[in-house]
Amino acid sequence: MLCLSGNDPSGGAGLAADITAIQAQGCHACPVPTALTVQDTVNVQELIPVDPDCIERQAQAVLDDFQVSAFKIGICGSVQNVERIAALATANPDIPVITDPVVNASGGFALARDELIAALREQLIPLTSVLTPNHAELELLVPKATTPQEAARVLLDSGCEWVLVTQGDGNADPVTNLLMGADRSRFEFHWPRLDAQFHGSGCTLAAALAAQIALGNTVPDAAESAQAYTWGCLERAMCLGAGRTIPLR
Ligand code: PLP
Repeated sequence: MLCLSGNDPSGGAGLAADITAIQAQGCHACPVPTALTVQDTVNVQELIPVDPDCIERQAQAVLDDFQVSAFKIGICGSVQNVERIAALATANPDIPVITDPVVNASGGFALARDELIAALREQLIPLTSVLTPNHAELELLVPKATTPQEAARVLLDSGCEWVLVTQGDGNADPVTNLLMGADRSRFEFHWPRLDAQFHGSGCTLAAALAAQIALGNTVPDAAESAQAYTWGCLERAMCLGAGRTIPLR
């Protein structure tokens, strides 16, 4: 699997999360950094995008060598990077694209500003097989929608095949995650809310989901199994820094 994500030196989110979650599903991750970050378990301080040509060359080297079975996309870092990643997906239409539309870090730092959010919505989301927004991300992607369902439907109408709306960023207990398909299918998943703050939970879920799809599972089965895996990682999360806990993948 080809992971296009940011590097997080705390090892909680980004590529470290992708690699460990993907390995735990029995898949191999090929990590291509889209951005470097300066951050700890409390918040992000800096986002340094990787040059789009460099991303493309790294991805192409992997694509020329491996039979890549899924693209897992996390933070892109810049509008130019979104364009380049969308071009890679377009050039490889048989490879499913699992996109985690990361907008803000849990600590509050903006990992995507308005133009980048627009580029995600207009260029990458229409090519996406499964999108994994939380409620806050959905609101920023489709600000005019009045409900998460309506927002997800707008993204499905734009070409995205499935949207898994997660509720971990809210307070409701149980956490209700909603999977909606372009074919109008709909699945709800309920998980007891865990009493902690996590760093890298969304990356863990999207990476495990991408791996389950790479293994050939249907999207509803992959979504169920990735959520169960992620919930287990969160239940065992480790308090290693001064901020949020790191899922034990
Ligand atoms: N840093 C990187 C590189 C990420 O990919 C993400 C989320 O995808 C974050 C930070 C934020 O993670 P969290 O909101 O779980 O703290």
